[in-house]
Amino acid sequence: MAYIPYGRQDISDEDIQAVVEVLKSDFLTQGPVVPKFESLVAEICGAKYATAVNSATSALHIACLALGIGKDDLVWTSPNSFVASANCAVYCGAKIDFVDIDPRTYNLSAEKLEEKLINAKKIGKLPKLVIPVHFSGQPCDMEKIFSLSQEYGFKIIEDASHAIGAKYKNEPVGNCKYSDITVFSFHPVKIITTGEGGMTLTNDKELQIKLYRLRSHGIVRDSREMTHPPDGPWYYQQIELGYNYRLTDIQAALGLSQLNRLDQFIKRRHEIANIYRNLLIDKSIVLPYQNPENYSSFHLFVIRIKTKEFKISHKQAFEQLRNSGILVNLHYIPIYRQPFYSKFGFKLSDFPETEAYYSEAISLPMYPGLTETEVKEVVHRLTNPIGYQTLF
Ligand SMILES: *Cc1c(COP(=O)(O)O)cnc(C)c1O
Repeated sequence: MAYIPYGRQDISDEDIQAVVEVLKSDFLTQGPVVPKFESLVAEICGAKYATAVNSATSALHIACLALGIGKDDLVWTSPNSFVASANCAVYCGAKIDFVDIDPRTYNLSAEKLEEKLINAKKIGKLPKLVIPVHFSGQPCDMEKIFSLSQEYGFKIIEDASHAIGAKYKNEPVGNCKYSDITVFSFHPVKIITTGEGGMTLTNDKELQIKLYRLRSHGIVRDSREMTHPPDGPWYYQQIELGYNYRLTDIQAALGLSQLNRLDQFIKRRHEIANIYRNLLIDKSIVLPYQNPENYSSFHLFVIRIKTKEFKISHKQAFEQLRNSGILVNLHYIPIYRQPFYSKFGFKLSDFPETEAYYSEAISLPMYPGLTETEVKEVVHRLTNPIGYQTLF
């Protein structure tokens, strides 16, 4: 490959074989592989129920609906996330607001959340739902967020799009011990892939029934969920407005096969992180903080450039790397800065940590197939800018 992307899928011959088998079988969708994939993810994560869907965006949408989020409800999330973490609330007619990030983990700050809740209570504007995002695969402070949810009465969806395979205090992310629903993404840049795909996990039977129904048009086939006994053997009922958010068996087969290598993928991501750490000893570069109590899935390797001390500016570093075929990225443009959201009148000064982060962050390439030579190349390009030597 002539360029080095920031993230990339890892596809084996076994993965390809698994997909081919489904293509030769009777069911391309709504067959036996989707439930197998769901059961295995639920088992790995220690959750009771899983519902596979066609993206994490869809998963977030039906998760909000299952929790009863509707018109004018208040939903809070992290501004340092992909827009989908906020869009899901807007789809439901809810109002979105953001909680500033923790300066070390870049996750939604549980301390800032508490401050914001205290103020919101005074003016009677408490959120109905908070969506913490396990940024880069590093779990949020879920114990604290959960205890705040008990005190202030809000629901929790964990956006764990980056974090399948991560551990929070020795327990798998996705067990929903501190949340109502957890969501995973299987987009090709994420930890495992199904091409496009996502999943909801929950331990709550009632929520599971709703999630399952919303995935497929709001239709039920179990007579116990119908408003009256079936008219006949052909019968099904649509009892609410749902969607076609189904995952295909073709995709589920890929996901199921990828799960075999989940631990291996994350182990390799940690190895790559260590190579970066050993090479990036420049004091003007802040390396990703790792909470020793948790185990990150290392979806992203984000560094911060202390612009005043580093040789080149943040923008120059991007240009430098991109011009040499290293497709670094910035995760994320703060959601409140997006034109669609800025019209709601957010003030940049309400998010000082997110703003500081945005002016310094770079996601370096991070994926299992990245070689040591490539990591060295990335570091070399970053720390030895072209033309820099001639300046001094
Ligand atoms: C990727 C991502 C999503 C959306 O996932 P899709 O599967 O592409 O819909 C949502 N939230 C976060 C934090 C993500 O990184």
